[in-house]
Amino acid sequence: MIDSFNRAIDYLRVSVTDRCNFRCTYCMPDEGVSPLPHAEILSYEEILRMIRIVGHLGVRKVRLTGGEPLVRKGITGFISRLTALNIITDLSMTTNGSLLSGMAQELKKAGLQRVNISLDTANPEKFALITRRGRLEETLSGIKNALAAGLTPVKLNVVLSEHFTDDDLIYFVDLIYRLPVAVRFIEYMPIGADKAGRGYSVAAVKERIHKLGKGLLQPIALDTGNGPARYYRLPGALGSFGFITPISEHFCGQCNRLRLTADGKFKPCLLSNTEIDVKTALRSGATDEEIKQLFLQAVRAKPSGHNLCPTDKHSEVDRRMSQIGG
Ligand code: SAM
Ligand code: SF4
Repeated sequence: MIDSFNRAIDYLRVSVTDRCNFRCTYCMPDEGVSPLPHAEILSYEEILRMIRIVGHLGVRKVRLTGGEPLVRKGITGFISRLTALNIITDLSMTTNGSLLSGMAQELKKAGLQRVNISLDTANPEKFALITRRGRLEETLSGIKNALAAGLTPVKLNVVLSEHFTDDDLIYFVDLIYRLPVAVRFIEYMPIGADKAGRGYSVAAVKERIHKLGKGLLQPIALDTGNGPARYYRLPGALGSFGFITPISEHFCGQCNRLRLTADGKFKPCLLSNTEIDVKTALRSGATDEEIKQLFLQAVRAKPSGHNLCPTDKHSEVDRRMSQIGG
């Protein structure tokens, strides 16, 4: 499927819930965001139907996200049913890792292939400050068990917010010599008027890595994902670094994805308010062909790019990250 700007669309990010057990400063206010009533959230049956239909249009990659996807009841059974459709060749999840430790094996068995785990720091106090609810040891144990279960490659998402310091950088540099993980530094996006502020730029992180004297960052191709990150290796390291620059060097020209929100809207672009309601159609007897047309409408609505720039304090995006899925 090719969009109006000649981009091949083969990837759907599915938010299975808007709820989360954390309240990360860059994502949600302390008091949380009023959760949607359960009836407003797409049922697993509805999501499976959507994936079957868009699968016939060429979507082969699905990432499950949230909110926190692992807080939704029955997620493992849902993944088994999704796997049984035999349509998706790359099935991944983005998670805060807090509940992963006890679930990693069963998720793998159900057909989940790999996970991205959010980890901004290995300092327990700072972790608690950023996530407002989280406990570092649970996420670290989630990472360990994800590796042991073979949910690989494990990628770690590090948001470059104002909390990120040189100590964190030194920890992550050391980590890629100890574990085969891809540590991805993500520029902070000022979405939904969040409380956090912007931290280092990706260029500043690269420069600091260079100053640690471990050698030159060598560009590499990672065999999965084909997403927005550019990956690099340091000599002798088991893992790698990825850099994601949605603001300073946006990658809209290669964007291959659409999002489905937990309340049943297609979002053609993370950084735009355009949404196409599919839930109403799903719940009023629409045929597969009619659902397919809504998806194609969303593909046609993909803009050529966003115009957020490094000096913007806030984006015009109404929803918060937890309500979109990142
Ligand atoms: N709860 C899961 C998690 O935290 O991994 C999945 C949902 S979360 C919204 C998806 C990703 O978005 C996470 O890696 C998170 O760090 C990232 N994120 C959230 N708010 C962000 C922001 N303002 N700027 C950049 N990344 C952000
Ligand atoms: Fe929850 Fe993820 Fe948002 Fe943190 S980033 S509040 S874990 S949805």
